[in-house]
Amino acid sequence: MQGQMMDYQLTLTPMLERARRLFYKKEIATKAGPAMERRTYGEMAERAGRLANTLEKLGVRRGDRVATFAWNNARHLELYFAVPCMGAVLHPINLRLPGEQIAYIVNHADDKVLFVDPTLLPAVEKLAPHLKAVKHFVVMGDKIPETTLNPIHAYEELLKDAASDYAWPRLHENDAAAMCYTSGTTGNPKGVAYSHRAIYLHSFGLSMADSFGICERDTVMPVVPMFHVLAWGTPFVSTMVGAKIVFPGPHLQPRDLAELIQNERVTLTAGVPTLWMGMLALMEKERFDLSSLREMIVGGAAAPQSMIETYEKKHGLKVTHAWGMTEMTPLGTVSKLKSYQIDLPEAERFAIRAKQGTPAMGVEIRAVDENGGEAPWDGKTFGELQVRGPWIISSYYNDDRSPQSFMDGWFRTGDVVTIDPEGYVQIVDRTKDVIKSGGEWISSQDLENAIMAHPKVLEAAVIAVAHPKWQERPLACVVPKPDFKDSITKEEIIEHLRGRFDKMYLPDDVVFIEAVPKTSVGKFDKKVLRQSYREYVLPSVSGG
Ligand code: ADP
Repeated sequence: MQGQMMDYQLTLTPMLERARRLFYKKEIATKAGPAMERRTYGEMAERAGRLANTLEKLGVRRGDRVATFAWNNARHLELYFAVPCMGAVLHPINLRLPGEQIAYIVNHADDKVLFVDPTLLPAVEKLAPHLKAVKHFVVMGDKIPETTLNPIHAYEELLKDAASDYAWPRLHENDAAAMCYTSGTTGNPKGVAYSHRAIYLHSFGLSMADSFGICERDTVMPVVPMFHVLAWGTPFVSTMVGAKIVFPGPHLQPRDLAELIQNERVTLTAGVPTLWMGMLALMEKERFDLSSLREMIVGGAAAPQSMIETYEKKHGLKVTHAWGMTEMTPLGTVSKLKSYQIDLPEAERFAIRAKQGTPAMGVEIRAVDENGGEAPWDGKTFGELQVRGPWIISSYYNDDRSPQSFMDGWFRTGDVVTIDPEGYVQIVDRTKDVIKSGGEWISSQDLENAIMAHPKVLEAAVIAVAHPKWQERPLACVVPKPDFKDSITKEEIIEHLRGRFDKMYLPDDVVFIEAVPKTSVGKFDKKVLRQSYREYVLPSVSGG
């Protein structure tokens, strides 16, 4: 027997319509210089209609790609809805990538129109001669500035001349709504095309109380860029539920963030650990009233347990650790305690919360060992994490590298994990970062987390260095806090680790560096460090 429910397509259009009808008074605030620019969802929906009319006039048709080169702001949100709801495909570009990768991405996606923030014009001007399919540039401001881009339009002028009514077409839920490219740590970036259905279901995923629980009463500040996996889906779910949004624009310094949380009474924010480490360091010196925050979502790279603990114990703020990927829209796991874990001793509670968490409803997980068998959920056995579900990639966009990323219908994440009997995933490492020492695998992330718990340490990255006997051994690259630059010693770092790790896991050497190099989305770039220390001779080799 067949179910007898309507064949209702899961698309983004009802989200936009819902915000227009129910949440028209709710605010979307953007930091623009020292002032805030304020709009409502009512205005957003109206302007999305104008934008769709404009895009149609510029020749954008169903399935065409429309690129954005922009920070997190209200105009970007209008594009987030106007483009997919008219049946075209939104393509936010990671503006921190090297120029040749950006050109590759724009050409690979075949972007027809490119929207650019006024402050980012110079970067696009340089690239323009290499962008093959782009027919129009639109600067996201009031008027056309001095520029070599051609043909160029001003966003507000286009909107002013357009009708606000737009007959949103009926779309199929499997139509592409948006696309993002992975940051391409090896080779060219790979494209991921998100369907309407994936984003729709993912938005429900983010609104579940046991994930981020985003609801109408929230004030959400997406610090994670809108070009980094669609700001982890927060703009869509916020619109769906009518939460107030606070966009930081290009203002991402710790003080900007702390002031925005304080002044706009932000309840939930999301970003990579380096941001929150920076804000924590600032809070050691200055006071802010961040009492409105109910949750800080940290993901994209491992959140050190010490950071989660310090926020909670010193500042009463709850950090929630989550894991995901560009290929997963991106929600994978969220680390929350189960009801019967709440009364566990403090150390055990923090140890659980520092794991990456249990899979969200909609995400199935398994860990696969070196022989292709499933690793037991014992919290000890290492395996590659594989996932499947309705918001997980089934193949890369026009890319012949696709097949090696899949195994029997599962997506291979490239993350080495353990899964414990309660279902909590712990990312041990990226397959390429794990240190292979005499047949044992050493987790660089475990060492980093422990080192970053040292009171004199700001950041630490641990990398593999070649060793004639052991194949690879760990080298700790440590950034001291400014006040301890002159007093920190190698010995105290090793001593600090000694009680926590078996002797064979201890780094063979510690070097002090100015800063850990970061990738385009703010993660530790260990590839660059590995390159710098390729020839490094460990004292255990030189006899030192
Ligand atoms: P990119 O490759 O562009 O950085 P993603 O942002 O999609 O792309 O990165 C996904 C990867 O980031 C994951 O496979 C994982 O290695 C890492 N990652 C994401 N969240 C976490 C986390 N909470 N802890 C550890 N690693 C994480």
